[in-house]
Amino acid sequence: MSTDPETILVTGGSGYIGSHMCVELLSAGRQVVVLDNLSNSSMASVEAVQRITQKALTFVQGDIRDSDCLAAIFAEHNIDAVMHFAGLKAVGESTEVPVKYYDNNMNGTLRLVEAMHQAGCKTLVFSSSATVYGLPEQMPITESAPTGAINPYGRTKLMVEEVLQDLFAADPTWRISLLRYFNPVGAHASGEIGEDPNDIPNNLMPFISQVAVGRREKLNVFGDDYPTPDGTGIRDYIHVVDLVRGHMKALEFLRDKPKLTVHNLGTGQGYSVLDAVRAFEQASGVSIPFEITDRRPGDAAVSYADPSKARDELGWEAEYDLHRMCEDAWRWQSKYPQGFQE
Ligand code: NAD
Ligand code: UDP
Repeated sequence: MSTDPETILVTGGSGYIGSHMCVELLSAGRQVVVLDNLSNSSMASVEAVQRITQKALTFVQGDIRDSDCLAAIFAEHNIDAVMHFAGLKAVGESTEVPVKYYDNNMNGTLRLVEAMHQAGCKTLVFSSSATVYGLPEQMPITESAPTGAINPYGRTKLMVEEVLQDLFAADPTWRISLLRYFNPVGAHASGEIGEDPNDIPNNLMPFISQVAVGRREKLNVFGDDYPTPDGTGIRDYIHVVDLVRGHMKALEFLRDKPKLTVHNLGTGQGYSVLDAVRAFEQASGVSIPFEITDRRPGDAAVSYADPSKARDELGWEAEYDLHRMCEDAWRWQSKYPQGFQE
């Protein structure tokens, strides 16, 4: 009998990263059940995923904090593994309404693992973040670097990691992969799904693409006095398709035996804000007006991964470069200037 996980529950599967994950899973012949409350996404992405893959998935509109809803999903479907993307992710908002973040991200995960335990499904891939490294001192960042989040969002990620570590310590029959993402950007090559932030984008790449498409006048560059070659902040941007392929490898890696693993998913290459602006201009042929403004509080000067653990253990490496990330982001943004509202 094959031990391949066949049916995957994707929480947050209509969101930015989750929708790309669903494309990858369906394309690899998996059955997919999505659980999403549509608080930060719409059915349009689910429809686009099915259009791209020409395959159907099961969509359940519900909340990960709803134990009855989770129990019903596990009763109805033979779920082999869970990929857990559902969560709130805006750093700024998390400082304004921290309790909402703790409730959603912490309680949501607790209800999920309880339901998994009750159903006897003990394979979980969790969306963690490089934010758990706080303001890192040494570059590149390895998985053994000290952790210490500096805002409520980051603390929910770190606390969920700790909960899952405790869970594994108490019951080592679990298979848990903690994936610490660096900066996911880009879109599926079809241009049919991509990042579609509500309101004003907090993150650099979606902001740049909205300037390029004419939805915003100019980019604010948050500081040019960092100790970096051009003075602007450096990050490790990773193509969302590379990122979800890392999840496929992580799931595979959990197959041989129960374990809890931690991996960085990044390219290992840092680019400055101005590098990103230039790359986007080249890929799109559109000029991006910008203005230098004050630093954004809480921003690290530099953050990039040491991705060698994922390479050595998972056999995964990012393939797409910054130019390709910008090309794909631009294809999506220029095809759908208003995102999924179109
Ligand atoms: P997203 O907001 O596009 O997707 C999250 C999805 O979860 C949304 O569709 C939302 O409707 C859903 N959701 C939120 N709370 C829910 C709940 N209680 N019940 C059911 N569904 C719920 O975000 P994303 O960028 O795709 O991020 C996915 C995951 O990756 C998140 O956990 C995020 O914290 C993590 N992450 C993202 C980044 C990034 O830069 N995008 C970086 C590191 C980690
Ligand atoms: N940034 C910027 N203007 C923006 C958004 C971001 O200059 O409108 C900078 C930010 O200071 C950081 C980099 O771009 O140096 C990446 O920011 P993002 O929010 O995308 O990722 P994070 O800081 O969470 O890693």
